[in-house]
Amino acid sequence: MSGASGNPGHDCPLCPRLAAFRDTWRNAEPSWFNAPVDSFGPREARLLIVGLAPGLRGANRTGRPFTGDYAGDLLYDTLARFGFARGDYKARPDDGLELIDARITNAVRCVPPENKPTPAEINTCRSFLAATIAEMPKLAAIVTLGRISHDSTLSALAVRRSAAPFGHGASFDIGKIKLLASYHCSRYNTNTGVLTPEMFRNVFAAARAHLGAPG
Ligand code: SF4
Repeated sequence: MSGASGNPGHDCPLCPRLAAFRDTWRNAEPSWFNAPVDSFGPREARLLIVGLAPGLRGANRTGRPFTGDYAGDLLYDTLARFGFARGDYKARPDDGLELIDARITNAVRCVPPENKPTPAEINTCRSFLAATIAEMPKLAAIVTLGRISHDSTLSALAVRRSAAPFGHGASFDIGKIKLLASYHCSRYNTNTGVLTPEMFRNVFAAARAHLGAPG
């Protein structure tokens, strides 16, 4: 395990509360993944999507970002519509789904109780987010899902929050990277109408427009 790597390793100890939560679930559900969830998709991708953290019964259970809970249904459907994914998403890591020119990661790699990481945990896990960004040589666009992932991504890029404030549909040019902000595609946000599928698709349409047609 090293802060210079984009992957924390199976037993990252840096956030004691989250490590203890992980251990609780390793005991309760030994068949679940219950570990820091690595990024999904090729390092050579031009698009990076930054979520918040694994869902308890989603990525924490299956081991692949956004896989196994509602947020993945909308995200993977949207990625496929815009040519960033190929295959059938079946909510399992062995469904054969491939990301094309896209990679998915989370601002916090371990599942937090009640989906709420503390500011210290967000800061600690940022070393892995920064390393993930740094290890992508062709990175040209980042979609941030929700304010926490947006703000942590800004910090990873050494950009002040006031220079690129979060708002759904907001976009910013940061060096050679187009940063696109979206409300998180959680069940809560979609059930309450905060985020409609169309609003979500518009963000990925903007990413596709920026990157050009799939090769
Ligand atoms: S959230 Fe990140 S830094 Fe904290 S324990 Fe998990 S992998 Fe390590």
